Amino acid sequence: MTATDLSASTSELTAAHIATTERYAAHNYHPLPVVLAEGDGAWVIDVDGKRYLDCLAGYSALNFGHSNERLVAVAREQLGRLTLTSRAFFNDRLSGFAEALARLTGKDMILPMNSGAEAVETAIKVSRKWGYEVKGVPAGQASIVTMEGNFHGRTTTIVSFSDDEVATSGYAPFTSGFRRAAYGDIDAVAAAIDETTVAVLFEPIQGEGGVVMPPEGFLRDLRALCTERNVLMVADEIQSGLARSGKTFACDHEDVVPDIYVMGKALGGGIYPVSAIAADHDVMDVITPGSHGSTFGGNPLAAAIGTEVVAMLEEGTFQARAAEIGDQIEAGFRPLVGRGLVDVRVRGAWAGIDIDPALMTGRQMSEALMARGILAKDTHGSTVRFAPPLVASDDDVALLVSAVTEILAGG
Ligand SMILES: *Cc1c(COP(=O)(O)O)cnc(C)c1O
Repeated sequence: MTATDLSASTSELTAAHIATTERYAAHNYHPLPVVLAEGDGAWVIDVDGKRYLDCLAGYSALNFGHSNERLVAVAREQLGRLTLTSRAFFNDRLSGFAEALARLTGKDMILPMNSGAEAVETAIKVSRKWGYEVKGVPAGQASIVTMEGNFHGRTTTIVSFSDDEVATSGYAPFTSGFRRAAYGDIDAVAAAIDETTVAVLFEPIQGEGGVVMPPEGFLRDLRALCTERNVLMVADEIQSGLARSGKTFACDHEDVVPDIYVMGKALGGGIYPVSAIAADHDVMDVITPGSHGSTFGGNPLAAAIGTEVVAMLEEGTFQARAAEIGDQIEAGFRPLVGRGLVDVRVRGAWAGIDIDPALMTGRQMSEALMARGILAKDTHGSTVRFAPPLVASDDDVALLVSAVTEILAGG
């Protein structure tokens, strides 16, 4: 069985790759029928030599673009030198990475992992341990408040607090100790906190939710609430962070500093999975030898790439470019509200559009864009998210805007 509908224009080569993939790789995704072979900057090329503007950018793992010269050079150099030591020994790249990422986040320490989900799991474990050892929550009773519509990854514990039925169905029993509150509703969050609560885990912008932003002031109110109730503010910046939103972190838009930053995706430059959490001593010191770990976390290859990512972010040019792209997208998409779009949300080079469901689904929009040489993905229903690499040119963004405009106009 194949989940991918092939159009008449699909080449034999593309069809063969899709058939073999669907035959031997589990059907846990519903990809667009394009088979990519090369990438450079904001553009990718398929097996037939057709070029596409990549407006998904690996769910923001590719903020710096495909084959970014600086990152590829660092990775190549490190590949020939040392790739893995395990944390049983020190390595000469983790020192610089840890120092750089601590500086970027303004935190005392980092804890490196690999995937985003592992970093979220790490934040959950650290929060619970902090709750018992520092806050004094009775053994086994720690609770964490999460948000409705959240996406934090795919492990059993993380889907335990998801309200997405497709992500949870068939995977019970779940991990207990989580409680959901309405996203962006500070009163609902306050009501969900009690004396067992150790953390509030949230996305400053919900990416998978469709680039959903909380009302202005929510992050500041949440910071004040967490401080007042002695609860850790845990910001999952895996997708929103590292320049995507026009600032280094999405929390920066309200000048808010969480207790724990959770990072992933672009931290590995789209080359390699690199994730981490960052926190101050009062939180991170609950971690002791043997209490948490990862074979690959903090390996020299990951650390070399991550160090260069931090160096690039410290220059500030990617954040500035994201903001510029955002202005161009906003100016292009805003007039479409009421003319095919129900809503547009833009923050930096990150946009969610809600298409009038009577017009087309998000999937249909994605397919129409693909036919015009633009790759994007629906999140759910009639919502499509756009997140081009931050190296996209003004012409690239103009191409996206005109394509969406024409498709909505039925052209
Ligand atoms: C992608 C994502 C994750 C999970 O990261 P993986 O690397 O896929 O495990 C967690 N939180 C947010 C906000 C994400 O966007």
